[in-house]
Amino acid sequence: MHKADILVCRVYPVLDARCPECGKKAQMDDDATTVKCEYCGFQSTYDEYLEIMKGKVENMADDYLLNWDRKPF
Ligand SMILES: [Zn+2]
Repeated sequence: MHKADILVCRVYPVLDARCPECGKKAQMDDDATTVKCEYCGFQSTYDEYLEIMKGKVENMADDYLLNWDRKPF
C-alpha cells in the first residue's frame, strides 16, 4: 500500500470528506461514487477525489509525518 493511501485514510476519513478546493465539508452520495461541495460547486467522482487528495497529502506528507511522532503504520 502506498504511503499516501494510508495518509488519505488517516487525514481524510471517508465519512468526513473535505472539499479539495475550499476545504469545507464535502458531500458524498449514498453509494460513494460522487463527491461534491455545496459551498464552491466542486464535483468529481470519488476516485478522482482520492487522486486529488493524494496529491495534496503527498505535498504535506513530510510535515505530517514529522508531527506524527514517527509511529509505524
Ligand atoms: Zn468547496
